[in-house]
Amino acid sequence: MTTTTTSNSALEVRNPSDGQLVGTVSVDDRDAVNRRATQLRLAQRAWAEAGPRQRSKWLRLWRDWILTHSDELTDLLQAETGKVRPDALVETTASCEFITYYADHAEEFLADERVKTAGLLSLPKRLSKTYQPYPLVGLITPWNFPITLFLMDAAPALAAGCAVLAKPSEETPLTCARVIDGWREIGAPPVLAHVTGAGDTGAAVVDAADFVQFTGSTATGRQVALRCAEQLKPVSLELGGKDPAIVLEDADLARAVEGVAWGGLFNAGQVCISVERVYVVAAVYEEFVARLTQRVQSLTQGADAGNDVGAMVTARQVDIADRHVSEAVAAGAKVVAGGKRGAAGNYYTPTVLVDVDHTMSCMTEETFGPTIPVMCVADEEEAIRLANDSTYGLSATVWTRDRARARRVARRLEVGAVNINDVFSNLFAMTLPHSGWKASGMGARLGGADGLHKYCRVRAVTEPRLPVRARELTWYPYSAWRTAIAAKMLRAAAGRGLSQRLGQNKEHRR
Ligand code: ADP
Repeated sequence: MTTTTTSNSALEVRNPSDGQLVGTVSVDDRDAVNRRATQLRLAQRAWAEAGPRQRSKWLRLWRDWILTHSDELTDLLQAETGKVRPDALVETTASCEFITYYADHAEEFLADERVKTAGLLSLPKRLSKTYQPYPLVGLITPWNFPITLFLMDAAPALAAGCAVLAKPSEETPLTCARVIDGWREIGAPPVLAHVTGAGDTGAAVVDAADFVQFTGSTATGRQVALRCAEQLKPVSLELGGKDPAIVLEDADLARAVEGVAWGGLFNAGQVCISVERVYVVAAVYEEFVARLTQRVQSLTQGADAGNDVGAMVTARQVDIADRHVSEAVAAGAKVVAGGKRGAAGNYYTPTVLVDVDHTMSCMTEETFGPTIPVMCVADEEEAIRLANDSTYGLSATVWTRDRARARRVARRLEVGAVNINDVFSNLFAMTLPHSGWKASGMGARLGGADGLHKYCRVRAVTEPRLPVRARELTWYPYSAWRTAIAAKMLRAAAGRGLSQRLGQNKEHRR
């Protein structure tokens, strides 16, 4: 979409493919955000007390509401984002998996956990961990996946017992708002709400929440992290990426071509984990480029049904893609497919660039557009070195028929996820953590129980295993003989560990 501020208190949402008005939303100021936060906090107490089973019941009803309304939601999503139908449909349907997974596992993941003792002083204790939800989670989301990136975190946060205040992107606030309507329509407790507006509204959400989950650009993520640091507030950040694809000489080339084409162009390239740069080993480079060019040239673009590649959400993003391509061409790169702005709307033609290198912005800056720059490399070593030559570290793909080799390469890549012979498959793998290394993020989302525990404070509980006496050996009053006994016992226990370590060192020296 293209938002236009009509006054201090309203934003227009327009269809990126034709500029038509889709809807208008308010700009919520700090007072409005705080009022919403107060209401949510009040309702959250009963929500937390209701327990995971009851909460899961509401989550499943909400999922059913979303699935029942998936046509309506997909239409609205297409209108505000310019996505083609298949790209939009994934959001309104597959994202419900996040709800199902956390509804099904909340009770198990939130159960008190017994942990083993370690060390002499905790030996007579029964140790456990209990989880208590943060009262209010602030969810700040971007415009590329208004439903998926909201549900990915709203589902575990609600399942954990938190209230959630969402701040969808000012570019695409409508579908997220409609999904939240669904929560109200099923009659669920008022622990989920949203506010609309731009950065100031987002900053107010950061200040109002007890935990902040932010998805967006690295620049804004850094500001959010600084604000949270000042307030000693936990924050989890999923930021930009510049994901490399490594195509080795023993790859199934047909699959690598199709995977890279889809991984680079799905959602018009506006995916944090899209293929943003490709390194192909010299032996198969010519053939790879020829096949990729053919595939990309065969794709159609537009808003009507049957097209492959949609519009870009913002005109600013089209400018970035265009700048990366023209800077590369000016520095000696060649466009072998696309490389042009669309005639109207926020379109950029699906593009393949060759003869690129790391002096060019298309290989170092996040493009977030339908462009695939391909670079020829001598071998696996050079591919790994160049793949790691980035400030980002979100994810990567490796294409080879040799599984052991693929795993070896994966282990050397400085990224939070590696998909072997595939793209995006980590995204809906809810039992795996989704995290960015380097400038791509901080903390993680999903990852089985961790994805739910992150929305809780953990409490350590100790209790005596055996009947207790009036006082322990180490308590008052101190006496010389008790101190001596305690010292002997503690030294014996601690020293045993020390002598074991010394023993190991001796072994090594031999
Ligand atoms: P983009 O993805 O367009 O680069 P951003 O990363 O700036 O956008 O925005 C992602 C989300 O963060 C949006 O919902 C936006 O309104 C919000 N946002 C922008 N600035 C701030 C801020 N200072 N504090 C909190 N949220 C912000």
